[in-house]
Amino acid sequence: MGFNSESDGGVMHGSAAVLISMMICATALADEASVTVTSHPAGAKIYVNGYYKGRSPDTVVINSAAEEAKPYRFTLHLPGFESWEIEVSLAAGQNKSAYATLVRLPSMVAGRTICIDPGHPSETSAGTSGPSGVTENHINWVIAGKLKSVLEADGATVVMTKQSENEKVTNRRRAEIANAASADIMIRLHCDAASSSGFSIYYPDQQGTKYGVTGPTQSVIDGSRAAVTPFYEGMKAILSSVLNGRGIHGDSATYVGSRQGALTGSIFSHVPTLTIEMVVLTQASDEAFIKADAGQSTMVEALKSGLEHYFRTL
Ligand SMILES: [Zn+2]
Repeated sequence: MGFNSESDGGVMHGSAAVLISMMICATALADEASVTVTSHPAGAKIYVNGYYKGRSPDTVVINSAAEEAKPYRFTLHLPGFESWEIEVSLAAGQNKSAYATLVRLPSMVAGRTICIDPGHPSETSAGTSGPSGVTENHINWVIAGKLKSVLEADGATVVMTKQSENEKVTNRRRAEIANAASADIMIRLHCDAASSSGFSIYYPDQQGTKYGVTGPTQSVIDGSRAAVTPFYEGMKAILSSVLNGRGIHGDSATYVGSRQGALTGSIFSHVPTLTIEMVVLTQASDEAFIKADAGQSTMVEALKSGLEHYFRTL
């Protein structure tokens, strides 16, 4: 063999490379064990002895399993479900499977009756609209429908104040629908027109008078005040990184509320009532946020979080 020959040298390098890769392969196989983890529902985070390994379904490979079987603790975490744990005894060369049926945690909205009031059109207004033409009436209706589905899936009873997007319902009638259902809370979904951007919540902070009726009662005012802070905090927990918080305000700070003491829907309400200005639709960035599917899902999640935070205080 010619020591200084280029071709001989090339062959030698090639053989060495093949040998090394075979050794790595053989070593890896000798120490490997695996567990195929499946869960219902899928998408749970898989941890082995506390270390994150991926999401179910997935095959988790233990790279340096011992020849003698050793226990490995597999834990699955999925939000809204009880965590699930199993100990798997594994030796090098073994391939096992684990199947987890995850148990849903009881939701704070389960068993509650929630009145969702998609704002507009009413006797006073058809609602505002955004710079690119998105209407408040449409957004309120879409979010209400999505929220209804999510709440019902979690065991809540949902009552809507209107049955179609363009159905005209008076503000008094909206409150009467919540009253007839003995709702735990009425949430009135709106979008604001303002110079700043973000979400805000209004609640009846005093009585008002409309059509000769004075209301709501002090207990509804107290109940609404008790609801508004946890609800706002619950929304903020989801929205803080994507939407500005414009704070909590009394009905008396609104245009209608400043003239009649409270919003008409609050005056006639016998249940705690919150009016949520989800975004400022006249701001282009807020309009873009709430127009997109992702923004709508985030808003629905925020509203649900608001309800959960409130019900947790009861
Ligand atoms: Zn509105």
